[in-house]
Amino acid sequence: MDIRIGNGYDVHALAPDLPMWLGGVHIPSETGFVAHSDGDVAIHALCDALLGCLALGDIGHLFPDTSDEWKGVDSKLLLEKVVALVHEHGYAVGNVDITIALQRPKLAPHIAAMRQVLARILGVTQDRVSVKATTTERLGFVGRCEGCEVWATALITKA
Ligand code: MG
Repeated sequence: MDIRIGNGYDVHALAPDLPMWLGGVHIPSETGFVAHSDGDVAIHALCDALLGCLALGDIGHLFPDTSDEWKGVDSKLLLEKVVALVHEHGYAVGNVDITIALQRPKLAPHIAAMRQVLARILGVTQDRVSVKATTTERLGFVGRCEGCEVWATALITKA
């Protein structure tokens, strides 16, 4: 069996009066992400995990933040393109696991929606999409509500 694993990591800064998108879902919040795209840091980490499986670099390389083409882009579109790349290489997504570190707001009410949205784009059932959220107990830049940190792991199998 040909299986591959990859990991991804991303951070975005928080600022007042910006939209907060995480895992393809809009999260009601007083702060949102400073970014060239819609700032969906969870999807960015997931894209990097999938690209890492195939040693294809990272999303910054694929979708440069200097390009107007990707300005304000819906990150779900970036994930769709990365999944298409996985399929082009003859692989299908096995499962993914995402950990989001954010002090506030509480993400628990939004986890189910994130799993649903991501599973649809990844072409898998929701039991293959894990999304976990944690605070950092007020420690570090996450704890000071200055930013959000995400780790993602992806496994793909030769179709
Ligand atoms: Mg990013």
